[in-house]
Amino acid sequence: MIEIKDHSSLIGIPIGFFSPKNVEELSEYLLKNKDFKFRIGAGLTGVSGAAVPTNEEVFIDFSKFKSIVWIDKEEGVFSASAGNTMLEIKNFVESEGWNFPVLPGSMNKATLGGMIACNGGGPYSLKYGKIGNLVREIEVVGVNGEILNFGSVCKKISEGPDFSKLFMGSEGTLGFISKATLSCVKLPEIKLYRISHPSFSYLLSSISVFLRYNPVYLEMAEPDALRFSSKADESVIWLGVEEGTVFNPENHLDLCITKQNKECIKERFDIGFNLQEYKKFIDLDISFPLKQSTELLVNLKKYLSNLGRESVFFGHAGDGNWHIHVFYDEQTPLNEELITGFDDILFKHGGHISGEHGIGRIHKSRFKKFIDNNYKLLYLSIKAHLDPSNKLPSLF
Ligand SMILES: Cc1cc2nc3c(=O)[nH]c(=O)nc-3n(C[C@H](O)[C@H](O)[C@H](O)COP(=O)(O)OP(=O)(O)OC[C@H]3O[C@@H](n4cnc5c(N)ncnc54)[C@H](O)[C@@H]3O)c2cc1C
Repeated sequence: MIEIKDHSSLIGIPIGFFSPKNVEELSEYLLKNKDFKFRIGAGLTGVSGAAVPTNEEVFIDFSKFKSIVWIDKEEGVFSASAGNTMLEIKNFVESEGWNFPVLPGSMNKATLGGMIACNGGGPYSLKYGKIGNLVREIEVVGVNGEILNFGSVCKKISEGPDFSKLFMGSEGTLGFISKATLSCVKLPEIKLYRISHPSFSYLLSSISVFLRYNPVYLEMAEPDALRFSSKADESVIWLGVEEGTVFNPENHLDLCITKQNKECIKERFDIGFNLQEYKKFIDLDISFPLKQSTELLVNLKKYLSNLGRESVFFGHAGDGNWHIHVFYDEQTPLNEELITGFDDILFKHGGHISGEHGIGRIHKSRFKKFIDNNYKLLYLSIKAHLDPSNKLPSLF
C-alpha cells in the first residue's frame, strides 16, 4: 500500500502505481490497462492536492521520466522530458552559459511536467513570464497511449491557435505531458536591495514606485511570514535590478534600503520551506491587479486577524501574486464560511484564486463558484475530445 501526499494536507492511497521511464513504457501500459482511471504526479511539491490520488485511481509517477538534450546550443533551445527537476534543468543550461528563468523555491524536486501542468513561475516571472512563455513545443501522451505534438521548435509561428498552451495549467487532466522544447535566456547581472518599513500598508504602497526601475524581481513579505526566516519585525521588499540601473536609495529616505549580496534573497525563500512543518495550512495563492495591492492585502490581513486566524503573507509582489497561508488545527479548523468571506474580499478587488499553484482538489469548489460558464463549456468539450472516458481527473 503506497501513500501519496503532496504539500497540501491531502493524502491518498491509489489502487495501483506505475513509474514509466519513457514514452514507450507509458504507451504500452496505457494500451494494456484501458479500464483504469489515472492520477499523474511527479515531484509532489504541489500545494493544492492535484497529484494526490483517490482510491479509485492508479498513480502514474513521472519522477523517473528523464532525458535532456540541446536542440540548438547557439540559440539556447533545449528539449527535456517531463520528469527532469527544475534544478537539473538549471544545471544543464548553465553548463553552456545559458539560464532558465523559472526557478521555483521547490526546484530541487518540482519537475518540468509539474511546472507546466500548474503553469508555474517564480521570482524571475516578473521579467520573463511564467513557464508557458518559454515552451515552444510540447509532446503529450494521450489517455490511450497516442503521441500528440503541439507548437513548434521555431520561435515564431502563426498557424491558428497555439494548442501547446492548452496544457499550461492543465493539472494532469488532459493528457500526460512527456516532453517540452524550451527557450533559455541570459540572466543579467543583478543588484539586490533590501527595502524595509515597519508598516505593511506603507511598504505595499511603494511597490509601483519600484516597478519604474524595471526590476528583474520584486518580492515581498510581512513580519508574520518573516517569523519563518530572519524573524525581522518589519515588512521587507527584495528588489533585484539589472546592473547599470540608476537606483539611488537616497531618493527613498522614508524607507530603510540596504544593498545586499544575491544570497540574501534566502531570507525570502526560507519562508516557504520553513513553514511547511509548522502546522497544517491552506495555501491561498491569490493574484490581482497591482493597483489593488495595498487595499486588498490590508483588508485580507484584517479579515483573518479579526477571526483570530494565524496567517502569513508573502510572494511575488511585483506580479500581484501573493501566497497567503492560513494555518489551522483541531481547535481552529478550516470552514467554508472563512474561505467564502476571504474570496468575497478578493473578488471585490478583481482578484483570482490562483496565480501559479493551480486549482487541484483543494480549491475545486472555489473555482467552480466563480468560473465563467463559457470557460467551463469549452474546457469540457476539449476534455471530451482528449479524454472521452474521463480516465484522468477533471477541473469540474
Ligand atoms: C517550498 C515550496 C516552494 C514552492 N515554490 C514555488 C514557486 O516558486 N513557483 C511555483 O510555481 N510553484 C512553487 N511551488 C509549488 C510547486 O512546486 C509547483 O506547483 C510545481 O509545479 C509542482 O511540480 P511537481 O513536479 O512537484 O508536481 P506534482 O505536485 O507532482 O503535481 C502537480 C500537478 O501537476 C500534474 N503533473 C505532474 N507531472 C505531470 C505530467 N508529466 N503530465 C501532466 N500533468 C502532470 C499533476 O497531475 C498535478 O496536477 C512551491 C512548493 C513548495 C512546497
